[in-house]
Amino acid sequence: MKNIFLLLLLLPLTLFAHMNIAVSYPYIGAITKSIGGEHINTVVLAKGNWDPHFVVPRPSFISKVRNADALIMNGGQLEIGWLPPLINRAGNPKTNVGANTFLNLSHYIKLIDKPSNVDRSGGDVHPDGNPHFHLDPNNILVLAKTIEKFLISIDREHANVYQTNYENFSASWQEKMKGWQEKMASKKGMKVIQFHNNLAYFNKAYGLENIGTIEPLPGIPPSSRHIIKTIELIKDQKPCCILHDVYHSTKTAEFISDKTGIKIILMPHDIGALETVEDLTSLFDYLTGAVQ
Ligand SMILES: [Zn+2]
Repeated sequence: MKNIFLLLLLLPLTLFAHMNIAVSYPYIGAITKSIGGEHINTVVLAKGNWDPHFVVPRPSFISKVRNADALIMNGGQLEIGWLPPLINRAGNPKTNVGANTFLNLSHYIKLIDKPSNVDRSGGDVHPDGNPHFHLDPNNILVLAKTIEKFLISIDREHANVYQTNYENFSASWQEKMKGWQEKMASKKGMKVIQFHNNLAYFNKAYGLENIGTIEPLPGIPPSSRHIIKTIELIKDQKPCCILHDVYHSTKTAEFISDKTGIKIILMPHDIGALETVEDLTSLFDYLTGAVQ
């Protein structure tokens, strides 16, 4: 009897105990929320309309990481400039690299475009390959499965909830993917230019061919020599458009467009990159509708 009483007393505590999961980018927060449901509270650090490579941490980030029960990052060196120093300063053993409450998503995806020889003095920001893997909708499923396993490993008590949430997420995502595939079918083989190769995985998923970037190397601003080369490339190969991120200035793209007549299309890279992109579904709805 006494035990039952004690159990009843403790029950509300367990029922309302939320795990605080800090994540680097909004898309990770959205997947984590879909799988974690009511048992977790996601704390998203970077905003979706920021340059994900060069996040300037706000002072509040330290306490967010300090109070986290777990941390999920993109990895592939995307956060290299800002997250490791933050983890250090927060001094939270639960968010340390190597803790069982720390998850690096890039370890579960095969990165493409790994440079064969990286000249670090050249300043390539992606020496491990392209880290923008979440823009292939197939990878969203891999990441959701990875996060499901991760949540189960740190909170066995709610394993069946995470499993069910994953199954529901996966079923509805696969249904949406069919729609996106149909929308993109006629775009297969289209040549595109980008500012930065944010859409490497998106292009691969739908058969678009990226023939060049306005940046000479990932993270390196355009030089006049490279701009002239790009203009020649566009005149020669006639790509449909420049797919441009939302956080770099479009000035160079506009100059190139003036010289060649090429269209510039803004492509959101994460939730919140554009106002209408409020969740993962609207992100891919937007991307698959934007390429013309
Ligand atoms: Zn990048």
